[in-house]
Amino acid sequence: MTTLHFSGFPRVGAKRELKFAQERYWRKELEEQDLLDLAKALRTRNWQHQAQADADFVSVGDFSFYDHILDLQVATGAIPARFGFDSQNLELDQFFQLARGNQCQFALEMTKWFDTNYHYLVPEFHADTEFKANPRHYLNQLQEAQALGYRAKPTLVGPLTFLWLGKEKSEGFNRLDLLPKLLPVYSQLLSALADAGAEWIQIDEPALTQDLPSAWLEAYQSCYAALSAVNAKLLFATYFGSVAEHAPWLKTLPVEGLHIDLVRAPEQLDAFSDYEKVLSVGVINGRNIWRANLNDLLDKLEPLQAARGDKLWLSTSCSLLHSPYDLSVEARLQEENPDLYSWLAFALQKSEELKVLKRALQQGRTSVRAELEASRVAAESRAASKQIHRHEVGQRLAALPANADQRKSPFAQRIKAQQEWLKLPLLPTTTIGSFPQTLEIRQARAAFRKGDLSLEQYERLMEKEIEFVVRQQEALDLDVLVHGEAERNDMVEYFGELLEGFAFTKFGWVQSYGSRCVKPPIIFGDVSRPQAMTVRWSAYAQSLTKRVMKGMLTGPVTILQWSFVRDDIRRETVCKQIALALNDEVRDLEKAGIKVIQIDEPAIREGLPLKRADWASYLQWAGEAFRLSYYGCEDSTQIHTHMCYSEFNDILAAIAALDADVITIETSRSDMELLTAFSAFKYPNDIGPGVYDIHSPRVPEQSEIEHLLRKALQVIPAERLWVNPDCGLKTRAWPETKAALENMLAVTKKLRAEL
Ligand code: GLN
Ligand code: ZN
Repeated sequence: MTTLHFSGFPRVGAKRELKFAQERYWRKELEEQDLLDLAKALRTRNWQHQAQADADFVSVGDFSFYDHILDLQVATGAIPARFGFDSQNLELDQFFQLARGNQCQFALEMTKWFDTNYHYLVPEFHADTEFKANPRHYLNQLQEAQALGYRAKPTLVGPLTFLWLGKEKSEGFNRLDLLPKLLPVYSQLLSALADAGAEWIQIDEPALTQDLPSAWLEAYQSCYAALSAVNAKLLFATYFGSVAEHAPWLKTLPVEGLHIDLVRAPEQLDAFSDYEKVLSVGVINGRNIWRANLNDLLDKLEPLQAARGDKLWLSTSCSLLHSPYDLSVEARLQEENPDLYSWLAFALQKSEELKVLKRALQQGRTSVRAELEASRVAAESRAASKQIHRHEVGQRLAALPANADQRKSPFAQRIKAQQEWLKLPLLPTTTIGSFPQTLEIRQARAAFRKGDLSLEQYERLMEKEIEFVVRQQEALDLDVLVHGEAERNDMVEYFGELLEGFAFTKFGWVQSYGSRCVKPPIIFGDVSRPQAMTVRWSAYAQSLTKRVMKGMLTGPVTILQWSFVRDDIRRETVCKQIALALNDEVRDLEKAGIKVIQIDEPAIREGLPLKRADWASYLQWAGEAFRLSYYGCEDSTQIHTHMCYSEFNDILAAIAALDADVITIETSRSDMELLTAFSAFKYPNDIGPGVYDIHSPRVPEQSEIEHLLRKALQVIPAERLWVNPDCGLKTRAWPETKAALENMLAVTKKLRAEL
């Protein structure tokens, strides 16, 4: 018997029902009971789907009203004391306040869940943090599933990963020191579930795929020795990478089974082949949208099954939380591109794939002949499709000269050629690209999409908007202007829609955090740019003004990072294909007289691999791809880039190697701290540290901007310093935008006079 199990399903529903209900509840348009009922219906549906897929265990505990790490904070009593809530009797409203903040307390910090686009709420730890078990969340779901007749396996994140993901909020202690206090609470949680009839409990320890300090690694044995006293079988799960290096001690861990991710790290199987207990293999990718090649998988699984018998379990690589829900609702995609449709699998289809694998292992391949045949046909059509494999794209990459990613001259020479025509004052001022996306702009875009506006009408409206934005910037007396990005819905989607090799879904939503979902484009084929994407808007904007107009592109790494990427060639290759498509745009912009061009790369840092050993190679190709996007441009063309996160001290060399003439970065929230690192590193090119935070509608005082700018001047020579906000202004309204920029300009002029 092969056991099939799930460790998590998408929570928000096939059509984001949970999101809409939550938001209505927050607006007080929906009663709590109605929200609870909807949640129950969603869980029930998820269990039905798992049962239909022949699951031996459905997953419980994975459903959350916001975030599963927040659930765990409640379950262990580790919610921040600053809220003054009682974790044992927490109300739903209070739960949401932890996640979203209230009048007196800011929300828990949010950060990315490993290398996914999901954000969890960061636990806050203090030396005196006390824990208290509250198994309600898991128990309720377990009992609910049992009542419906399902055999259920609770899944929760383990104590070491929980501590690892948290933050020390006071000085002088190490959060690992909290483990002895936390363990008894975990034991109580697990015991409560065991008493309620959970035969197996899955404990996720994905932290183990990162570089853990030795003290953390050493803690695993004793930690799980303590938990093993619980009267349920524990499945110790890792995902998002290999744990092969830990195999020797993992195999002796006092648990009943291990789960490993064979999608991300297939090579780790060897290290566990002699494991004597249950080995759960994650063979269906929980994080993407591609259909698996079931015949190939069976070639690997059959010998494994022969050797392991009952001790082989089947699952997805990780929770299906990171995958969209159901392909079968994508009628438009199916009609427009039936081939592509046949290569895809969302959560429900992935569940079906597991079902086929299970049946083939139990009853032989002939019992699922039709399904395997369909899988083969899809794999073959994908491997041979002319939509995907376009000879000229590969040729072009292969034919690049060795130094294609290097500018013609070094920065010192380029900047002279640029200054000669730019004639900018000291402390030149600019913005990051977008201006307020007003209701009118969004309505115009929506109307155009629906066909209610003709292309001509739409273009006129956008031109009017551009003209407005240009006049505003002139009135403010900014030096380098932008066109405002009114025509862009999203900085990745906009380009994806204009590039060859990209596809879009209607309901391919994935939870990003809370009620927020993203719908990443699908990069399915070789990427190229059939026609200019931005030139029209930038050239129009330039035609309106004597001032310099900055062109605006999203960089190749960011486009890659925020898409579902094909898995049949290396990410590096996809990224470089995007870079060359963008390069076509850069050249066309140059030809159209747009010779200041910003290539945004906010996602470079989040692409960093989980293990440091892999950083150098990623940074190498990511940097190369970025540089290829400006391949061949003139010395006198000024390339800008923008990044909006403040943690890049450890990758400064790679940032410098991008060799952008100007980099604008987010620094205001950290009081210019980051700049000290840039200066210590002797960052060679121009820098525009953000002088105010655009994330809040609050208008910064001149004195605050002056404080930041003076700080910046202490570490960056005035000749290389630019003045700009932290990030794009699309989420702001006009009144505060104008007021803030006025203050920014006033301070800049005051300081210029002193220089
Ligand atoms: N140019 C983009 C904008 O201004 C940059 C957005 C970003 O950094 N995320 O909106
Ligand atoms: Zn930004």
